[in-house]
Amino acid sequence: MYPKTFDDLIYEFQKLPGVGAKTAERYAFTVLGWSDEEISELAETLVNLKKKVKKCTRCGNLTEDELCEFCKSSKRNQNIICVVQNPKDISVIESMQEYNGVYHVLDGLINTQKGVLPDQLNIMSLLKRINENTEEVILALDPTVEGETTALYISKLLEGKCRVSRLAHGIPVGSHLDYTDAMTLLKAFEGRKSS
Ligand code: ZN
Repeated sequence: MYPKTFDDLIYEFQKLPGVGAKTAERYAFTVLGWSDEEISELAETLVNLKKKVKKCTRCGNLTEDELCEFCKSSKRNQNIICVVQNPKDISVIESMQEYNGVYHVLDGLINTQKGVLPDQLNIMSLLKRINENTEEVILALDPTVEGETTALYISKLLEGKCRVSRLAHGIPVGSHLDYTDAMTLLKAFEGRKSS
């Protein structure tokens, strides 16, 4: 019932998580009401996204440079590495404003049922980062079966190489880090245990 280009836009919005037909239609009408300038800015940002945003060659976090803001920073302790599932978790941890080390992004969790094996994750690059200066590796992974499996696997790999700790169980089992509020996460960080 709509012109093809308008329908195309609705179709594109529906690819986003949690966006159904009605919401996509509303978004399309909103964008239709924008000025030419606003639409150009959106289009340009989308094109630049794939061109400019890449993974930090050291930790796997998102960046527009060779190294991400944390790996580059002289203000961060480069010898404490917090291991997370994805870049989204970094912003949750940063919201605590307490952690001053750096990160390592695994890009997933071991999940044998879905065929995600350790060699498909960013684990070997973590091992290569560990040296005699490494003070601690903090495993900040979801308290799910996949999170536990991955934490156990990495703990074994790093055994005898450096101190490895895991977040205390302040975080409800089965939940995801990104749904955890900063206060709960802070307690889990403070109560972390060596594994
Ligand atoms: Zn980095």
